[in-house]
Order: sequence, then C-alpha cells, then structure tokens
Amino acid sequence: MISPVEKLQKILRLEAERCQDRAVFGGLARYADTWLEEAKEAFGSEAAGWFEDVADRLRAYRSLPDTTARRAAVAVLLDMLQDTPPARPAQPEEEEESAASAAPAPVQLEPPVAPPASPTPTPSAVPAVPAPTQTRTGLDSPVTALQGVGPRQASRLSKLGIETIRDMLYFFPRRHEDYSQLKPINRLEYGEYVTIIARVRDAGVRETRGGGSLFRAVLSDGSGPIEVTWFNQPYLAEKIHRDQQIVISGKVDEYLGRLCFNSPEWEPLEEELLHTARLVPVYPLSAGVGARWLRRLVKRTVDYWSKRLPDHLPISVRQEVGLMDLEDAIVQIHFPDSKDLLERARHRLAFDELFVLQLGLFRQRHEWRSVPGRPIPVDDPVLEAFVRALPFQLTSAQQRALQQIVADLRSDQPMNRLLQGDVGSGKTVVAALAMALAVTAGAQAAMMAPTEILAEQHYATLTRLFASWPDLSGAGSPETMTESGSPGQLPGIRLLTGSVTGQERDEIYAGLADGSVGVVVGTHALIQEGVQFRELALAVIDEQHRFGVHQRAALRQKGYNPHLLVMTATPIPRSLELTVWGHLDVSVVDEMPPGRKPIVTRLILPTERERAYAFVRHQVEKGRQAFIICPLVEASDKIEAKAAVEEYERLQKHVFPDLRLGLLHGRLKGDEKESTMAQFARGELDILVATAVVEVGIDVPNATVMLIEGANRFGLAQLHQFRGRVGRGEHDSYCVLVSDTSSAVAQERLHAVEASSDGFVLAQKDLDMRGPGEFLGTRQAGLPDLKLASVTDLRLVEEAREAARGFFKTDPELQDPDNRLLARRLAQFWRGPALSLVEGKGEVS
Ligand code: ADP
Ligand code: MG
Repeated sequence: MISPVEKLQKILRLEAERCQDRAVFGGLARYADTWLEEAKEAFGSEAAGWFEDVADRLRAYRSLPDTTARRAAVAVLLDMLQDTPPARPAQPEEEEESAASAAPAPVQLEPPVAPPASPTPTPSAVPAVPAPTQTRTGLDSPVTALQGVGPRQASRLSKLGIETIRDMLYFFPRRHEDYSQLKPINRLEYGEYVTIIARVRDAGVRETRGGGSLFRAVLSDGSGPIEVTWFNQPYLAEKIHRDQQIVISGKVDEYLGRLCFNSPEWEPLEEELLHTARLVPVYPLSAGVGARWLRRLVKRTVDYWSKRLPDHLPISVRQEVGLMDLEDAIVQIHFPDSKDLLERARHRLAFDELFVLQLGLFRQRHEWRSVPGRPIPVDDPVLEAFVRALPFQLTSAQQRALQQIVADLRSDQPMNRLLQGDVGSGKTVVAALAMALAVTAGAQAAMMAPTEILAEQHYATLTRLFASWPDLSGAGSPETMTESGSPGQLPGIRLLTGSVTGQERDEIYAGLADGSVGVVVGTHALIQEGVQFRELALAVIDEQHRFGVHQRAALRQKGYNPHLLVMTATPIPRSLELTVWGHLDVSVVDEMPPGRKPIVTRLILPTERERAYAFVRHQVEKGRQAFIICPLVEASDKIEAKAAVEEYERLQKHVFPDLRLGLLHGRLKGDEKESTMAQFARGELDILVATAVVEVGIDVPNATVMLIEGANRFGLAQLHQFRGRVGRGEHDSYCVLVSDTSSAVAQERLHAVEASSDGFVLAQKDLDMRGPGEFLGTRQAGLPDLKLASVTDLRLVEEAREAARGFFKTDPELQDPDNRLLARRLAQFWRGPALSLVEGKGEVS
C-alpha cells in the first residue's frame, strides 16, 4: 500500500504542473478530509497536529487568488511532506553483524521482509513476535528466508549471483529508467519518456490477426484522453479495471497521427510506486526472473534489511570524505529519490570498494614490512665507481630509480619495488648495479627471466658489466675500490636454466649453497627445490607479468626475506598503477637513453601488403632481418597455431620462396621455441613468422622490420611491445601495421601507435578505449571484483587511497573493536581470486 504521505506528494506534484486544482476530482479542498482520515489511520494520532496543518492548507487552496499563490502553496506543502514526522522505529535498532560475531545474540525473529504496512512512517509497525521454532534470519541467510522466494526462485536468483539477503542488497541496478517526469496528458510530446496518472475510462482485450492478443485501454486525467495498448498480456484484463486510477510510465508513441503508449510500465496508483513515476531501477535479469517481480522483491528486501546493515566504514572516514551512510546509499542506489542522491549513493558505494581494496594493499605492504629484512650496506664511493665504469652515462631517470633502490637496500625493511620503464629504457643496468651492491656486501643476488633466451641475454649483459667493474672481493672497503680500478676477482656469475643439467647443474647448486656463486641468472630453474642460497639478499624478476604469483613467492622464499625488485616494460596508467601495484613502491624510468633512433611506424591497407613485402625483401637484401606477426586468433591456442602455420607456409611458398623463414607459436615445445629464437638471434633466419609469443624482451639488434598483420586485434600496449623488438641496433628500423578492418575506431587506435612512441601515452589510450578488464587481461591483476567503482577513475582511486592511508596509520591491524566490521568486510572482499595480491601471507616467515 502506498502511504498517504506519498499519495499526497504524487497528487501535489501533478498539481504543480498547472496549478488549476485539477489533480484530484473535486479539488484539493474536498480531498483534505479524506486525506486526514487516512493519515491518522496510518500514522496514529501522535502526529495529528502536523497532519491537521497540512489539511488546513489543502482546504485553503481553492480560494487562493492566482496561480502564483497556488504554486507557492503547493511548494510549501511538498516541503512539509518531505519532513514527515519521524516514524517510531519498529523496534530497537540492532546490529545484525556485530550480534553475529560477539556474544550470543538475542534471537532475532523478525519475519523476513514483507513489512505488512508501508515502509514510510509506520509507528504501528511490526511487533517482533517470538517464535521459538523459527531460526534466526540474518543478512547472510539464504534468499529462501525471504517471503515469496522458494527453492525454484532461489536457484534462478543464484544465476544472477544472489545467494543471500546481503547479496540482494548489493545486487545493483544496471541503470535507472527516468520516469520521474510527471505530466498531464494534454502536454505529452511524441518520443518523450514520461509518467501520467490517469483514470481508466474504457478497457478490453481483443485478438489480433496474428493470433495474439491486444489489451487496450483509454485513459483520461481531466486534461485529455490517451490510448494505451499492451500486446499479448491478456491477463491485464483481470488487473486493470474501468474507473481505476493507474500510473503509466514509458515512451510516448504515435499511431495514426495520435499520441499513445505501447506496452508501457504501469501500476495502480494505490500502491507504492516501484515501476513508474520515479527513477526506476533496471536490473540484469536471467531466465525465469521477471523484472517486476525482482523489483518488488528487491524493494521489500531493501526496505527491511538496509536498516539492519551496519555501516562498516569508520565514521571518521565518512565524515572526512563527506559520504552518505550505508543504509541511505543502499536505498538510494536501488530506488533513488533524485538523480543527485543516486549519484551520491554511487559515490559512496564505489568509494567503499576502492577503500577496502586500498586497505588490503596497505595491509599487504605492512605485512611484508613487519618482518625485518637485512640492510645491505652501500658505500657511496663504491657505487660511484661502478657507475663511472659504465660505457655510458646513466639517464637522470635511471639515476633517480637507482637512488630509490639504494635507499631501500640500506633499510632494514625489505625492498618491494617495481621498476617500470618502456622497452629499451635501460632497466637492466639499474638492476645490475643493485646486484653488484649486494655482492659487494658479501651476499648473493639472483635474476629470474621468463624465457631461456632472455636469461641468456641477461647473463651476457651481466657478465660484461661485472667484468668492467672494480674488484668486488674487497667488500666494504672504499679505498681499494676507487683506487684499484682494475677488474679484480669476479664473483662467480652463473646461468641456470632448464637446459643446464648433470654435473654443471650440481656445480651451480653447490656454488649457490656455499656462496662461491655470487650472482645467478636463470629461468624457472631458479626456483626448483634443489636450489639453495647461502645468503640471497636481492631477487630481481624481469618481465614480472610473465610470472605467476607463486613463482615470485618461490623466489623470495629462497632467501630470508630478501629485497625484491620486479621489472616490467608494460607501461600502465597511474590509476591502475595505484591499484594493481598499490602494495609495491614504484620507480619509473621514463626517459630513453640519448641517441635512440625513432622507429618509423606506418599503418597500411591490406591492398598495400605487396609493397610491404617488397620492403621486407629489400631490408633482407641489405643484410637485415624481419618479424612478421600473425593476427591474434581468439578461439584457442590450437587454432591460432594452425593459422600461424598456414601463414608461414603461404609466405615461404608464395612470397619469400628464396628466403630463410622460421616459425614461432605457442603450441611449440619450449626447446623448439628456444632453438628457433636462437637461430633468429644468430642471423640464421631472415624472417621470423610469429604469434604474440614473441612479445617479450628478446634482443636482436640486426632485426629492423616489424610487420604486424591484423594489427587492429592487438592492444596498443602490446603493439608497442612488438615495436620494441626492433630498433635495438644501429640501423634505421620500421614498424608496419596492417589492419584488417577500416573501422573508424580501429583506425584511430592504430594512428595513435603511428603517432606516438611513448608507451605510457599508448597505455592510457588503450585503457580509455578498452577498459581495465581487457587492458590487464583476464584476472592477471588478481583484483577483487568491483561492481561500481572503476579502477580507471583516478580521482576516486586517489581519494580512496588517501583515506585508506590515513586510516591505516591509526589502526593497521584493525584491532580496534570499532573497526571489527571493517576487518570483516576486508576479509570478505579479498577472498577468492584476489588472493594473488595477498601473496605475502606466510610466505616470508
Ligand atoms: P630495458 O630492459 O629497459 O628494455 P635494457 O636495459 O635492455 O632496456 O637497455 C637497452 C639498451 O640500452 C642496452 O643495450 C643498454 O646497454 C643500453 N643503455 C642502457 N642505459 C643506457 C644509457 N644511459 N645510455 C646509453 N645506453 C644505455
Ligand atoms: Mg629488458
């Protein structure tokens, strides 16, 4: 039942349209007494004085001199009705949640949902009738505890992800239909979405020629008539009767030159309006779940249970950020009273998600740091000597990153740092310097790379660098360092990959265990069980996104809480950085070493492919090499491999029969991949035909052309990575993008790659165009599900992060009893797939 207050509000809103005292039959004055009766009955006599006041104003309405006066009167009345006298609560408010966690709760026996009276002021509401046989219903009870939800409906709801009452509160509408605009019939305009309140003049069903049914009604509101039809809903004949007042919401249509409604939403005026005359929530549906049924169910659930949902967000945070409280937010996100309130509700709930997410990240970081690590003493003169010995000057970005790393190494809290920088920005040398510092201090350092080829490359780089560095054996003695200058005794640097076996492997194992091997570079082979370090002080991981959480954790575990440096060449926009890597410190190498030649990038049409092939051939004739990337095939690895094989055969047979082509795809065995890559690296192949597997880190300075087929199917960041495979030597290099669509969006994206050589610019663009899910790849980030918040909303992410940071300082362990609910919420939110970010747990102890 609609409450008298709401009923009057509706009438007054309609009246406000024209102020001709036409909103109810006979005028407002006549309606005053009827209304007063109803109001007293519904709300009891306590507030009677207030209702009399309203009634008096209604009585006076008729005699007001003009529209202006009437308009003002309506406004005053509406205002008064906003401030309905507070309802006497049905019973003392209880905290369901705290009750559950603390001492045995008083058994709570409310009949779930279905408040018998209207949810607006109801002093006479639900007495709690103790019924000892009933079990206690709480927010975490299954939906079957709700009236009208049996096992069948429950299983349908479960397809929508709704298992419990709490789930239902958090089952947010996809959007809202704005039916808040109330109009008299004679003012309707074609095409607008509106609501009318009118009386049924005539109604009836008839059959259509197609064998369907047509329910037709003529409505009128005093300003004029309008026809409304519903197709194939013959049961409406049972529900909509002549002379009934109903509310219609929908789009104004036209038939034979006259305005009408076709299958609009409707409901009787006497009921509380859910489907019409407001911002109407639109929920995702699944088979067997009707929109109206679900809306009613959610409404009942929200009305009853939102009051019993304690707010987990600390009041200090709420006040500081100026957030709506949880109860209101839940009510308003479902059944908003205005667009503004809807927006505030969204803000509050989105903030919640990001706040809890950030809190989890701070927690993670805190746990890591609470176990002390070992400081690595660093002598500035030693470091300077290393830097001086480099064949080039560090860029200022490299210097900054190095300083940040050195500060971490010196601290007794283990480093957890991400070193981020575009392809070729020179991360490896920064990592190598850190490794040298660890070795100088008499400890060990390890670097793990995702492929053998990459590990070999790093091994070669590190060997070269270490050979050029001053004697490392005189650890901690600056004098010998700076003055000796000559390369002294190298610490053992070894390469450990899957192909290292037998005696050699045993030697390395022994050297790592007794400390005679100071630096080891390798692949997953590093984290095998047999590998033991004497004193692993620094673990470096290259292209960290290629490793699973467990592999990273496994490497850390090889030492006693070692310093950790992870490197990535995947640029990531700031908002995502704060979220995905919010638990790490980040150093960014955002500057390229000087003298890099820009890679000329061209987007071409498929019809120009022949010219591109001619260009490739030309480069090969000059002694260079080329990559040709096959289009991304979504279906499966297998299909993709097949497509790659076909492309390879076509190119080898028909396009480049005289050239040496190699093929690389994901279905090849590890050693097959490695050997093809190695062949290419040695210059034994002219062209490498490959799928996306070639994306990461391989360095072939002689390769000068990157031809990417189906470029439109790749992410921009990925295209940028491909492009980074060329231009690594002294030769001019080229990237050719072939798009298999000419759609405007695809063109725009690819032109961006053509126009910018800045990975961050492209990453931001990619994120804007594709959204975070696709940008990060499925589940890669290990983030909890966010329903409302977007990790790309930098402003909100920062707001939540700041609030979380401040709050975290006050109670890092969430031990304050006041924060118990928040602690629980944190645990709920971070369970499941999110575990990957909480990797620190137990790992370092
Ligand atoms: P990343 O791993 O960040 O992609 P690398 O560390 O492989 O980049 O560096 C790419 C190339 O640039 C290497 O050949 C390296 O020796 C060189 N390099 C690194 N830093 C500098 C610098 N400051 N000046 C000149 N060349 C540099
Ligand atoms: Mg690298």
